[in-house]
Amino acid sequence: MEDAGQSGTADSRGPEKLPHTTLSIRWLLRQARESFGSHLVRLPAMADNQGTTDETPGILGSADRVEKPTDEMSTFEATSYFFHRAADRVKLRDEVREVLAGSYRELSVQVKARMDNGKVVVFHGYRIQHNGARGPYKGGVRFHPSVDLDEVRALAALMTWKNALIDVPFGGAKGGVQCDPASLSQGELQTIARRFTSMISYIIGVNRDIPAPDMGTNAQTMAWMMDAYGQQHGHTPGIVTGKPVELGGSPGRDQATGRGVVICAGEAAKRKGKSLDGASVVIQGYGNVGYWTAALAAEEGAKVVAVSDAAGGIYNRQGLDLGRVTKHYKDSQSLTEYTEADKISNDELLELECDILVPAAIQRVIDSKNASNINAKLIVEAANAPTTPAADNILGDRGITVVPDILANAGGVTVSYFEWVQNIQQFQWEQGQVNEELEKKMSEATAHVFARAEEDKTSLRDAAFDIAVQRVAQADELRGYV
Ligand code: NAD
Repeated sequence: MEDAGQSGTADSRGPEKLPHTTLSIRWLLRQARESFGSHLVRLPAMADNQGTTDETPGILGSADRVEKPTDEMSTFEATSYFFHRAADRVKLRDEVREVLAGSYRELSVQVKARMDNGKVVVFHGYRIQHNGARGPYKGGVRFHPSVDLDEVRALAALMTWKNALIDVPFGGAKGGVQCDPASLSQGELQTIARRFTSMISYIIGVNRDIPAPDMGTNAQTMAWMMDAYGQQHGHTPGIVTGKPVELGGSPGRDQATGRGVVICAGEAAKRKGKSLDGASVVIQGYGNVGYWTAALAAEEGAKVVAVSDAAGGIYNRQGLDLGRVTKHYKDSQSLTEYTEADKISNDELLELECDILVPAAIQRVIDSKNASNINAKLIVEAANAPTTPAADNILGDRGITVVPDILANAGGVTVSYFEWVQNIQQFQWEQGQVNEELEKKMSEATAHVFARAEEDKTSLRDAAFDIAVQRVAQADELRGYV
């Protein structure tokens, strides 16, 4: 089988000319050794440096399927669980299932950084490309202590399904560095971002793989990444999205994921004969996505009653004054010291009575232990993989509607697509046009998912996966890849 079916035209740097993932990684390893010495790039299965306990095997396929949903499933196993169920329902051919069950390419790198105290620290970094049948790989870069091969694998696969569902011409990828941004200075973060970019530069490119911000990274991180890539390849604004507008970013990208979450919440409420106006909303996470979800939901008349960050949350049954909360947060970097609301834990926040619960932080926060206590009528998954498969079944049995991550948080990548298009055209859209096009994409995808769920009598998550898996499988088959 030829390997020409994945994204990116093979060129003289051509890892695409080599068969499937492991060999491509070996090619990369050889290239990196030639450039930097033998110690800087390792195969995933060899990632044993710095005392890591990561024993995840190299390349996974359908033989690694876990059929019984439990909270103990890893994030990748959970993502695969939803994929395989979709593959069963849409009767995917075995060969296609095998291709889509694992990643196309997995790169594990050392990110060596000299810290402010003069010491060198080696962080683990990853860039994983899951599938490129529908276009260049696309997905964010996460800086967080939980980042490991399994997590990035799962997030890369989710990007494939998300990009197919929202119907942008991208495949799916994800990257990350295992670090705690809260404990690092701006100088240290810049060193890590630049080093990581240089280490993954062999496999990214405007028509190959385009990173973006995710948890722990932001527009500033993208500016550093663009600059680091540009030093090697010449000015290339389209290499990342989510950049500052002053450097070719798109107006509206910072708020796009939150805006998409609010559009989905509104559409889902409408189908229940309700609206956002007057709805009580609880949001876990007050970073980029949580903040904008809160602000834009409030613009629609919703009453945001609780928000949180990693340290805990605040709750006011009458509704939070978001302007004051945000000012306090910016000044003190702490939500829990805000005095005009009750202090609550993240666990308590998830179980608050409300119309809409928006997990907008990390994965696996709703599991079989708290799913029976969730007191929301609607859950809109702004975070990636916040609900374990076991919890998803419980919520389904309880009649709680869940708008799945691959639909609910697709607004970010949609506007990233608009940014990429603007960079290629060297043209900038007005924010009004960006918001209008985003609304159109999100509403169309939401309508499609609701219609499919109704037709097939499935959950919204199942319907979303079915649509996405069929689209990606079709692209792989049309290319003659499988
Ligand atoms: P961010 O770093 O800006 O904010 C993350 C927030 O989550 C912070 O408030 C942080 O304190 C909180 N948090 C971290 N660990 C937590 C924990 N254990 N419990 C509770 N809160 C915790 O990140 P973001 O960009 O807002 O991303 C949030 C989620 O949305 C992630 O799952 C990300 O993958 C997903 N997402 C982000 C985008 C995007 O455009 N940024 C797009 C799609 C999906």
